[in-house]
Amino acid sequence: MSEKIIGITVKKKENFSEWFTQVVTKAGLADQRYNVQGFIVHMPWAMRIIREIYRLFEQELERTGHEPVLFPLVIPEENFEKEKEHVEGFKPEVFWVTEAGDDKLERRLALRPTSETAFYQMYALWITSWRDLPLKLYQSVSVYRYEKTTRPFIRGREFLWIEAHDAFATHRQALRQVREDMENSRKVIWEQLGIPFLFLKRPPWDKFKGAEDTYAADTLMPDGRVLQISSTHDLGQRFAKAFGITFMDKNGKERYVWQTCYGPGVWRILAALVAIHGDDKGLVLPFRVAPVQVVIIPIYYDEEEKKLVMRKCRRFYLKLKRRNIRVLVDTRDKTPGWKFNDWELKGVPIRLEIGRREVEQGFVTIFRRDLKKREKVPDDEVVDRIYELAEEILDNLKNRAKKFFEENIVSASSKKELVKAIKEGKIVKISFCGREECAEDMREATNGAKVRGTSLDFEEGDYGKCVWCGQPARYLVYVAKAY
Ligand SMILES: [Zn+2]
Repeated sequence: MSEKIIGITVKKKENFSEWFTQVVTKAGLADQRYNVQGFIVHMPWAMRIIREIYRLFEQELERTGHEPVLFPLVIPEENFEKEKEHVEGFKPEVFWVTEAGDDKLERRLALRPTSETAFYQMYALWITSWRDLPLKLYQSVSVYRYEKTTRPFIRGREFLWIEAHDAFATHRQALRQVREDMENSRKVIWEQLGIPFLFLKRPPWDKFKGAEDTYAADTLMPDGRVLQISSTHDLGQRFAKAFGITFMDKNGKERYVWQTCYGPGVWRILAALVAIHGDDKGLVLPFRVAPVQVVIIPIYYDEEEKKLVMRKCRRFYLKLKRRNIRVLVDTRDKTPGWKFNDWELKGVPIRLEIGRREVEQGFVTIFRRDLKKREKVPDDEVVDRIYELAEEILDNLKNRAKKFFEENIVSASSKKELVKAIKEGKIVKISFCGREECAEDMREATNGAKVRGTSLDFEEGDYGKCVWCGQPARYLVYVAKAY
């Protein structure tokens, strides 16, 4: 009897979009058949990975003085109306609750698209003195936006993220927080998950609505489009003034606070993890976030062998379990080959294969998912080797991802070069005039390439002529197609 697993049937390089859809479904990340567009069912394999990603961010946020909170899902319209630019920016995307039971509500309630106007309503009550600062709170929640086109983990009407809202006595402290947020992203997204990105200062027309400045992390997907996976904002005193968030300073003078907000896009980070590390067989997960880190596959052909093999499997299972490694023995009634494929599709980083030879000769066959390579390891070295492999796998994924990322960042010195590079799916660095009309014209002419912003160490100056319009260039910017 043949038991063929229905694996991924397209190559990632040839048809990324279809590959992504198949991986999401077949690896058991999401079920898109729920009957409201843009709202997906998050399946166990995705939720376990997401939980680990949350844990990494939360640990780091708490290490730097943040505390967890949970704010209401609904935000009254009057809160929204307080900051003009914010409400104008978000209104087209808001879901409104207008009725409850048989009653029409007196005022509409927004399902939070982001929670500035919920948090700051309360910050105005909580902050009265310099002693109340800094105030650093975060919540790990879903938010709701009325998006027209949706894709699981990339763009949804309901998606998961973290939002941190901080208030300070001085602008300098707020700017330091923006740096700390970027460092938080680097530590988790790059160091632990191996996803490379560029943190860019967005152009004024692409700022978060209500912010003075927006800094956002763009990674590059295999189809040549960038994906924003994290952002942090210098809110200045705009919301403080709109909500009346003031404090008495040490000299008894009343002042407005300075604020920042930070949003690691947990959902999109999962999308990037899938897209960037995955291969033609499916997911490839870093050890740190894999729901199953080590899977043990027993291989036997009769009952007598089964006893021997299972005894050894059990021994290794307990050994790893004791060390808090997420380990599983696959005892399902399927062939070893079927099981291999299934766990490769799900991206389990390390597989132990144990059969008669392994029992008799005192070794274990270890398979690593990232390189699809096997090695024989003596029984008493297996645990150490697993720890080593966890690091080696992450290093390999990082190197691979970084190589792809860096190879696809290029410079262009003419319109023609820019158009060509965009067509090839690159992130393109150009001299730029800084005008929104020019960026808009470029976007239309290139079928969607956007000015993503300047690098963090950038200083305004004379950079020759704008590659697009020929006017004097004051900026060096990155341009790319985006999700
Ligand atoms: Zn221009």
